[in-house]
Amino acid sequence: MNSIENILEPYAELEQSVGRLMKGLFSEMCGMCTACCCRVDICEEAVASPFLALLLRKQGLGESELDDRYGWLDLDGCSLQYGRPPICYAYFCDSLLGRLQDDEARFAARTLGKLMDHIGKEALGERHLVEIMNPDDLGKVSIEMLQHRIEEAHAAFEVIESYLQTGSLSAPDQAILRMIQGVEH
Ligand code: SF4
Ligand code: SF4
Repeated sequence: MNSIENILEPYAELEQSVGRLMKGLFSEMCGMCTACCCRVDICEEAVASPFLALLLRKQGLGESELDDRYGWLDLDGCSLQYGRPPICYAYFCDSLLGRLQDDEARFAARTLGKLMDHIGKEALGERHLVEIMNPDDLGKVSIEMLQHRIEEAHAAFEVIESYLQTGSLSAPDQAILRMIQGVEH
């Protein structure tokens, strides 16, 4: 039977790939930042959300490992390999974006930051996958839809990874990224 457990592995794999690219782009600046935007209340969402809690359990983590003061943050940054709230990837402060060379690079970075959010959008009615708070409701989510979203996010990831190597975005590539951003044209 197709259940939510079936998407944990592909979701975790994609999230780790997104994290790797973001680390390459931004870890130098975020690592020196004295105004770190991580917050314990955001960290807590990873244990409060039944879907994210499944991803934490997969890496042997739960509420008892969450530090009261620092959340999931340690000296090397966020200690979660995956299962972070999607906002952790989607937020960029202005100075971080300002370090990128042009609008196209900013567009690619913003899209990279939206990939994990894209997967769970409107998973149940208007609710995002990570906002479904009753574990039983996870059984009502269309797994086929989530698998399709992971494929879309993966295709966009490949476009961004290639862009970071070549500095070039073709028209079809731009269309793939605009779809993630919810922009039709
Ligand atoms: S996104 Fe901006 S505010 Fe947050 S850690 Fe990075 S540099 Fe600091
Ligand atoms: S990136 Fe990690 S440490 Fe930072 S707010 Fe998100 S879950 Fe917490």
